[in-house]
Amino acid sequence: MKEAELRKHATCSVCGNRILAAGMPLFWTVRIERHGVKLDAVRRQQGLTMMLGGNAAIAAAMGADEDMTMPMMEPVTATVCDSCGTEMSCVAALAEVGSNAIAQGREHSERPSGAEG
Ligand SMILES: [Zn+2]
Repeated sequence: MKEAELRKHATCSVCGNRILAAGMPLFWTVRIERHGVKLDAVRRQQGLTMMLGGNAAIAAAMGADEDMTMPMMEPVTATVCDSCGTEMSCVAALAEVGSNAIAQGREHSERPSGAEG
């Protein structure tokens, strides 16, 4: 990761603090995607598998190899500091704040940490 990309990840998407605020020079980048399963495609593949005696490997080779899912959003990359990385996070909320945080990073905002509230 070069300097320009590191600047985009300077702020934790979860707590809003700088990634080095916890003292450890480690952080996470989390790519979040939401997919919807295309049930018609799954049923077609399952039907082909059943026609071929239940052999999923042969059905995979002989089938149309179509997409089984449809992306439901643009992928979001969230930055998570090392302390927030050890806690459970709601993925949907992380997708929401992750996109905002990365957008703020592009603007090189200098949001003071902990000033809100
Ligand atoms: Zn954090």
